Order: sequence, then C-alpha cells, then structure tokens
Amino acid sequence: MKTDIEIAQSCRMKHIRDVAELAGVDEDYLEYYGKYKAKIDLKLLSDRAGAPDGKLVLVTAINPTPAGEGKTTTTVGLADGMRRLGKNTVVALREPSLGPVFGVKGGAAGGGYAQVVPMEDINLHFTGDFHAIGAANNLLAAMLDNHIQQGNELAVDVRRITWKRCVDMNDRQLRSIVCGLGGKANGMPREDGFDITVASEIMAVLCLADGLTDLKARLGRMVVGYTSTGAPVTAHDLKAEGAMAALLKDALKPNLVQTLEGTPAFIHGGPFANIAHGCNSVMATRVALKMGDYVITEAGFGADLGAEKFLDIKCRLAGLTPSAVVMVATVRALKHHGGCPKGALGTEDLAALERGLPNLLRHVENITAVYGLPCVVAINRFPTDTEAELRLVEDKCRSLGVNVALSEVWAKGGEGGMSLAREVVRLCETPGSFTCSYALDQPIERKLEQIVTRVYHGDGVDLTPAAKKQAAELTALGFGALPICMAKTQYSFSDDPSLLGAPEGFRVTVRSLKVSAGAGFIVALTGDIMTMPGLPKVPAAETVDVDENGRISGLF
Ligand code: ADP
Ligand code: MG
Repeated sequence: MKTDIEIAQSCRMKHIRDVAELAGVDEDYLEYYGKYKAKIDLKLLSDRAGAPDGKLVLVTAINPTPAGEGKTTTTVGLADGMRRLGKNTVVALREPSLGPVFGVKGGAAGGGYAQVVPMEDINLHFTGDFHAIGAANNLLAAMLDNHIQQGNELAVDVRRITWKRCVDMNDRQLRSIVCGLGGKANGMPREDGFDITVASEIMAVLCLADGLTDLKARLGRMVVGYTSTGAPVTAHDLKAEGAMAALLKDALKPNLVQTLEGTPAFIHGGPFANIAHGCNSVMATRVALKMGDYVITEAGFGADLGAEKFLDIKCRLAGLTPSAVVMVATVRALKHHGGCPKGALGTEDLAALERGLPNLLRHVENITAVYGLPCVVAINRFPTDTEAELRLVEDKCRSLGVNVALSEVWAKGGEGGMSLAREVVRLCETPGSFTCSYALDQPIERKLEQIVTRVYHGDGVDLTPAAKKQAAELTALGFGALPICMAKTQYSFSDDPSLLGAPEGFRVTVRSLKVSAGAGFIVALTGDIMTMPGLPKVPAAETVDVDENGRISGLF
C-alpha cells in the first residue's frame, strides 16, 4: 500500500492558473508562489461583492482518538465527490503547523486518496504565513520589552505581562524561560515563555479579520499585560499595530492549492482549537463562498469544541450561515467510546461499538436540535472495519432517523465520497434555522453555563475563586459581551478526558478566564492547556528526509 506522501507525489498536479480558472478566479487576482500555489488578491472580494455566496458545509467529528478521525480527509474527499456529481465545489481548510508535522500527529493535508497537494509544501513552509505571524508576534514582544527598558512610561508591571514570544515548533524547553539577563544594558530580567505560533493571538486575529483595516484595529486591541494599577496595556499603546499589519499584509491573503483530483482548495490560517477557535480564516471562507456553489470546510477537534466555536464564534462574528454539517465518525473511535482497549481497536467488537454510539448521537442531536442545522453522519471507513460493524452503525442511525452515509474517500478518492456528496447536496436544500447556543448579551458565567449544559450536557459549571474574580474584572473592563472560547480536552464532552461516550451528571470547572481582545473572545481554561507542546519520545521528524533532488520523504 502506498503511503500518503507516495500517493501525493504520484499525482500530476495542474498549474495553479488552471485550478484558479476552475474556481472562476481571473489570473489578475493571482499572486504566484511557484507553479502550484498562489495567493488571492483580496480585491476579488470587493469586485465580487454583489455576487451570491455558495453554500457552506461544515465537516466536524465525534470526540476523537489521538490519531484523528479523518475530518480533513473527509472534507477533501467529499469536495472531490461533489465535483464528480457536477457540483461546483471548493475546499476551505486550515494550514498545518510544524509542531504536529514533526511531533506525533503528522501533517494536516488529508490522507490516502483524499489529500491536498503539494502536500510537502503545505505541511512545511507553504507560503510563509506562519513565519509572518511569528515575526509580527515577536516584533510586539520586542517592542514591549524595549518600552520597559527605555523607561516604562506606560508603567507596565513586569510581573503581569501576558504577551509571550512564539515559534512554530514543539519545543518544551522554551515553555518557561527567564530572559533579559546580563545587566542593565541587556534588558529587564523577567520570567517569560514561548507559545507555538498557532497559539499566538495573532493567528486568531488574522483568521477573524475581514480586511487589512480590521486586522490593524484588532492587532491594536490585543492586551500585552497590565499596569501596576491593573489597567490593560495594548499593542496600540505601544504603537505596534501598523508595523505588525505591514508584516502580515500578504499573510492575510488566502492561499489556493488543489486536491489530488484538481478541486480548488483554499488553505489559510490555523489557530489552535483549544485556546482559539480552530478554523481557517474568514477571508478564505469568504473568497471560497464567492468561488464555489458549495464550500466544504473543517473545524478542529470534535464537534463539542470545533463545531461549537465554528458556529458560536466564527459564523456569528462573520455573519455566516452554514447549510449543512457532516459528522465524521469512525468505527475505531466509537469502539474506544464503548470501552474497547486501545490495542484491540482493530478487531471486530460489536458490543463495544454499540456502547460507543451515544457519543455520536449526542453530537448529531446538538447540531440539529441546538443549532438548527441539517446533519449527516459520515462513517469514515478504515481498512480494519468489518462489514458487520459498518452495518451496525448505519442501521442504528437509520432506525433513529439520523442521516448517514459511508465514506470511502481515503481508499477511493472522490468516487468513494459520492454517496456522502449526494446526501450533502440534498441536505443543503433542506431549510435550516441556524441559531447560536447562547446569546452574547448575558453575564460571562451564564454563557459558560449554557455551553456546558446545552452542548456538553453537563449539570453546570463551577468557576474557581480566581476565575470568578477574572470574570468580574473582564466585565468591568468592558469585555463582558464577547463570545466564549472554551479550552477543554478534545477527548470527552466533559473536562475529564477519561469520561468517554455520552457522560452525564458531571460539572465542568473553569480555572481561569483570559481575554483575547483582538480576536474578540474570552478564553475559558478548564484545565492545564498546553500552548507550547513538546516532542514525543520518537518524533515524526526522525523519519523525514530529503534526497539529492529535493524530493522529500517521511511526511504523513
Ligand atoms: P482530522 O482532520 O480529523 O484530524 P485527518 O483527516 O487528518 O483527521 O486524518 C488523521 C489520520 O488518519 C491521517 O493520517 C489520515 O491519513 C488517516 N486516515 C483518515 N481516514 C482514514 C481511513 N479511512 N483509513 C485509514 N487512515 C485514515
Ligand atoms: Mg484535520
């Protein structure tokens, strides 16, 4: 069997000009990055302002296992399947981060015969967006420390600096550092730390901005720390937003590539799905909606986090209304939710599978009953699944009136996604009544309560004394009406990763609340959320190589 990278490298890619033509993008709007990648000039949006938007389809998933359940793979294969039905369809995805690429999970360009290409470029430096974000982030850090060094006119309390430096690498050594050592000429000694670039607020800002002016305003609003009297200090106070925006002017433009079958794919931005909202940029989604009659997009993690934030944050803030939701489920993850041990997930176990189904059904019910959107389950078929297992999931869904389709895109590409595609086309004709899971104009604690009870199905939320104090402070500072960005484990509906399936009777503890004022949400931390991961014992980087001709191997 061919590996992902072997499949990708045997694909004959079209020139990106031809892919753009397929998407109806005139060459005038293209900024070429070689033959197979281009950025799209944002002028396209103003020129096409009067054109109708396509239909937006979200691909999300049940609570996953650490390997991922195939959302990206399904997104790509579904779009190729829709094209085979003759539907003008495009893809909108996040850019991969070097952290997972060299760590455990690997790249994020899909898998098998449902990938976006050139996968080596997409998984590595791509068009340099993440480097630009890192540079903007670190410019602000440098300007902040320089301000303190030059006399600290703003009276920044060096013990209350919240802005960190960043690098796009899993490097735990940088998680907590002491910097500014070496005497008076070398800065103010203080504790600091690095986040991975995808966790920088600038990533979330770039992904929610709807143009350069808005980007600059959002950058200016970012809080970098607090003064000795507790007043927030912003990037605007440091006069940093103009230079940061200058560094980001090209990064704001969506990137165009193609799937293995030549379907146009916009891949742009990649915020963390825990401390940020976990989906591609608003700019890319807007461009995609002008180009495709259907836009297939993905949100990170499971639906409790990814879909919740896609709908309650991104769609609400950007004024987007999705037409349908695809819920990816795998037999192995359902068995995992049914108590099947990790080592036995590849062996048939109908009893565990049936016990795990409530996880899937609860996610589907959230989409239909809480958010008012049509939903179809996509069973992402793995080579180890047995016919009896696949039939069990299908039969159970049908008996409960849940739409379901088998997806074989990993093994067969677009052809394996055609039955799912037909179902999606049908659902897009079904009228939805999209509503968010909570209203903005209520107290922070009430919003948290609604997410926990309505989306997670827990009994309620408890704030630690520190979080209560922060809720009061943030409200007093005028941030009370922002949406909530939950930072929670992706493995459970609850804040306890070991509570699998569809747990009941639990409460969620919010330990701390922090504002991302530029992004425009309040981050609620429910546990220790890592914003600078580390590499595993055997990092994926050990197997990546490049030969004399520049041909890369070992990426997956
Ligand atoms: P997600 O986007 O949900 O994190 P991905 O689509 O990135 O998941 O898939 C995670 C990994 O699983 C990838 O390495 C992919 O190649 C692999 N994968 C996805 N679907 C299948 C499948 N049906 N059979 C085998 N491997 C698969
Ligand atoms: Mg993915």
